[in-house]
Amino acid sequence: MSNSVDVEKMRESILKIRKKIEAAAEKSGRNPDDILLLGVTKTVDVDAMQAAFDLGIKDFGENRVQEFVKKSDIINRECRWHIIGRLQTNKVKYLDNRISLIHSLDRLKLAEALDKRGKIIDYVFPVLVQVNVSGESTKAGIEPENLKNFLLQISKMGNIKVKGLMTIAPYTEDSEAVRYVFRNLKQLAVDIDRERLENISMEELSMGMSGDYETAIEEGSTIVRIGSAIFGERIY
Ligand SMILES: *Cc1c(COP(=O)(O)O)cnc(C)c1O
Repeated sequence: MSNSVDVEKMRESILKIRKKIEAAAEKSGRNPDDILLLGVTKTVDVDAMQAAFDLGIKDFGENRVQEFVKKSDIINRECRWHIIGRLQTNKVKYLDNRISLIHSLDRLKLAEALDKRGKIIDYVFPVLVQVNVSGESTKAGIEPENLKNFLLQISKMGNIKVKGLMTIAPYTEDSEAVRYVFRNLKQLAVDIDRERLENISMEELSMGMSGDYETAIEEGSTIVRIGSAIFGERIY
């Protein structure tokens, strides 16, 4: 129900985040306009999403394809859709040209499935390769030492286009403790960029969430994925 959305509270939250993004950008000599605030909307209902859109959040990130399918049919705003979570190959058939970025390409089988789907619907999927910088065994992502090889394997696929890298830092109360994760991802992107691999671009770095986005921006993030700081704690 739309009257359950506290628009004023959301307005304040978004304003606060925008100010922090600006401050973090300034601190590191960057232009705040180069940083996309992506609203992470898993479990968030469409009324709250439409309110967020009207407050300037034009990009939504879902981690389940089913939620994208369901919500994208209802939402009557010209938003952009991102897939940020682990993507099963058997769900790829539900993706279409409304997907403006897939953040979580983490294996060859998935790249092949996306490329195949892209050919069927005549669309080139923009993708980021997820890298497991922290090395946590619970996290998805390509190991840093295998990144170049992986990129070489997928660079010939005509219906996906690599735009950069994504990582998820370990959960922590102290974002300084995960600064190295963001710094390492940036360095990987710089190193790959130097190699000038065909059809591979490193223009986007998707890193930083509600608890650590300022640190991520200081280290070069171009997309911060923010859920709870905008929409409140998630109720599963
Ligand atoms: C849930 C999620 C986020 C957002 O997390 P918050 O801490 O609520 O901002 C960002 N990225 C990914 C991949 C997620 O699954």
